[in-house]
Amino acid sequence: MDNTVRVRMYRQGLGDCFLLTIPTGKARPFYMMIDCGIVLGSSTAAVDRLRAAVADVIKTTGGEVDVLVATHEHWDHVSGFVQAWDVLKDQLKAKNVWLAWTEDPADKQAAKLRAERRKAEEAMRMAVQRLALDGSVRTAERVESLVAFFGATGGSTADALGNARKLGVGKPRYREPGEPPIALPGVEAVRFWVLGPPRDEKLIKKSNPGKGDGYGLDAGPGGSQQFLMSAMAETVDADGLAAPFDEMYSIPLARAEKVGFFGERYFGATVDEGIYDWKDGSAVADQSWRRIDGTWMESAETMALQLDSATNNTSLVLAIEIVATREVLLFPGDAQAGNWLSWQGLKWEGGETGPGLLKRTVFYKVGHHGSHNATLKEKGLEMMTSPELVAMIPVDHEMAVKKRWGKMPLPDLVSRLREKTGGRVLSVDDTVKSAAELGAEWKGFAGEVTVTDLYFELSF
Ligand SMILES: [Zn+2]
Repeated sequence: MDNTVRVRMYRQGLGDCFLLTIPTGKARPFYMMIDCGIVLGSSTAAVDRLRAAVADVIKTTGGEVDVLVATHEHWDHVSGFVQAWDVLKDQLKAKNVWLAWTEDPADKQAAKLRAERRKAEEAMRMAVQRLALDGSVRTAERVESLVAFFGATGGSTADALGNARKLGVGKPRYREPGEPPIALPGVEAVRFWVLGPPRDEKLIKKSNPGKGDGYGLDAGPGGSQQFLMSAMAETVDADGLAAPFDEMYSIPLARAEKVGFFGERYFGATVDEGIYDWKDGSAVADQSWRRIDGTWMESAETMALQLDSATNNTSLVLAIEIVATREVLLFPGDAQAGNWLSWQGLKWEGGETGPGLLKRTVFYKVGHHGSHNATLKEKGLEMMTSPELVAMIPVDHEMAVKKRWGKMPLPDLVSRLREKTGGRVLSVDDTVKSAAELGAEWKGFAGEVTVTDLYFELSF
């Protein structure tokens, strides 16, 4: 029997869209689609490529995938379910939709986490407006680019995930780490091990690796760093974002501007009354640099980062084991430090463990587009000791730079990936046009590599 499993990574841009083909022994293989998205702010050309990827999935599968996985609710993983919905809604069905337990409406812990996230998201959107009004344009832009993970007008991530659910024939299945390995009827070639997201609240809220636990110098401010979501939620009250002082102790901004002392020193509107530059004695009209009314909101940026990390950490993590060879294909979504750490403690009846699966990993879908906090070192990549290891990074560096994420992918991580795989790393923004153009390092790869304008495909 043919045991060849194929992994197709679409080359739409910064975002994940994967199609797996798994043999069944019959004419029709088993198809699994994992995520379908592109980061907000991508060019029209990139969105067109995403739509072309969707068309390719429909063509390849004949309009039916066996399992559709949406790893987590971020635009760069689910936007396709909005941006190509016109086509998807009539032309693709999913026999099964798999989501993480964190998306289960009947799960209390999930509901609590989601409510925290929604509240924080709302606060972030308000902070963006306030920051812009207060003239902190740069910070406003940075916070906005983080909030953008949740989509924008014309389609939110919640809409996108809702559409993904609608493609399912039955109800979605919510997957749980440590549940028995999933063996699907008629699909003997593989079984699925669910590694994350963890139930442990401490781990699901831990986004950054401790010192030395990740790659690169900026691996985070220390292992004890805790996520501040509850503090975040507290800054939002019934009226929106709360100010640091009670109303009775504050003078409204508009009134302060008209009070001589404040007007002169903090707004500079009344130059005649004498605020002058200390160097050349010229009148300084703008005194806004003295004001800190927007500064307290700059913590919004830190919080927005944490909010994004929190959502990443709800990623459904799958280890797909090829039964005949026991080799593992690892799809961690955008799982961050705490999610990775939780795999260490996983044990199944029969002796399988999280570390055991990492050890046999031959394919690694690099987490979170190669960022600093989504691939652990000693408790992660260094445990993947198979000489067959290859990696795919769903990243477009130019787009990442445009989003001000200059270190995506993290150079130290990329060079370690290259070392560990003997150079067999493909990223979405690689410019090769055909398999023949691939470097000599791919000669030693046991499977096949297919290169088209639209995707890279590897066989195992
Ligand atoms: Zn992502």
